[in-house]
Amino acid sequence: MEAPTAPQAPMSPQDALRRVGFLLERARESPYRVAAFRRAAEAIRLVPEEELRERAAAGTLKQIKGIGDSSAAIIGQALRGVVPAYLATLEEQHGAPLSWDGAELYAAVVGDLHVHSNWSDGGSPIDEMVLTAVELGQDWMALTDHSPRLTIANGLSRERLAQQLTHVDAINATLAGTFRLLKGIEVDIHLDGTLDQDPDMLDQLDVVTASVHSKLRQPAYEMTARMLAAVRNPRTNVLGHCTGRLVTGGRGKRPESQFDAEKVFRACLEHDVAVEINSRPERQDPPDELIELARDLGCLFSINSDAHAPGQLDMKLLGCERAERHGIPAERIVTTWPVEDVVAWAKG
Ligand SMILES: [Zn+2]
Ligand SMILES: [Zn+2]
Repeated sequence: MEAPTAPQAPMSPQDALRRVGFLLERARESPYRVAAFRRAAEAIRLVPEEELRERAAAGTLKQIKGIGDSSAAIIGQALRGVVPAYLATLEEQHGAPLSWDGAELYAAVVGDLHVHSNWSDGGSPIDEMVLTAVELGQDWMALTDHSPRLTIANGLSRERLAQQLTHVDAINATLAGTFRLLKGIEVDIHLDGTLDQDPDMLDQLDVVTASVHSKLRQPAYEMTARMLAAVRNPRTNVLGHCTGRLVTGGRGKRPESQFDAEKVFRACLEHDVAVEINSRPERQDPPDELIELARDLGCLFSINSDAHAPGQLDMKLLGCERAERHGIPAERIVTTWPVEDVVAWAKG
């Protein structure tokens, strides 16, 4: 995966609008503001460039539904072959790489096993997530929306998951092998360690990421048993954000769940489950000492974005920085593998 760089002028008005959306997401701006620019990009998708030029000259761009003052200015400047002023400001503030370290490993990461769309609590449609992943140089990613019990995150019922799978097939058909969207889920781990989706539905997926989202402060012996049961489930492939901690950010801080990490990671090793390195800055999960424990035990890892918007997909650079710092070899990170190997591993 190439380190994401700012597109150079001249760029199409549509690319300029989408890049603005990407940078606003990275800046954690309101989803409504982001959506306005993505809507504008969509609004001009089928308008011939000639017509856009005529409208820009006549000042009638805003007559196109979905185009406001800011997007009209961006379109006009992009058509003149200059980097739009608003985009230039955003590039300056938010366009730099998220980390200066980890770039070598990031270049080797070609996939992602933890991504959300607006089918659950993400902010963007699936195809926008895919398009951005392609632009970032990724080869594949798994769509892992939430499971039914997580109603607060609009978790997918059995029926909605079935619908989504049809949708994923349709998207893959349009990609013609240039990129592969895997069928996945971020399935909630129940208190008794069972998974929050019917086994026959899980069997239809390429990959299953399992995470704890409730009762994070239960006693260590209970949490250990809960996680062991999930890891031993033959359908589980990745253990998501294992401590549940929050270290910074708008949602405040949350301490690490207590559990016997050595037991849990040994089970991961035995059952061929990858330990997620969750790249979100507010999570940074697992903590350093647990990454080292899993490394020393010989576990597989999965560097994931847990992106809820296209502008968060390249947060994987932050996970790469941590993995590199702890000396995790690239071949033990499943998100550096070709998609066929990942699918074979997950089904094996
Ligand atoms: Zn989660
Ligand atoms: Zn998630």
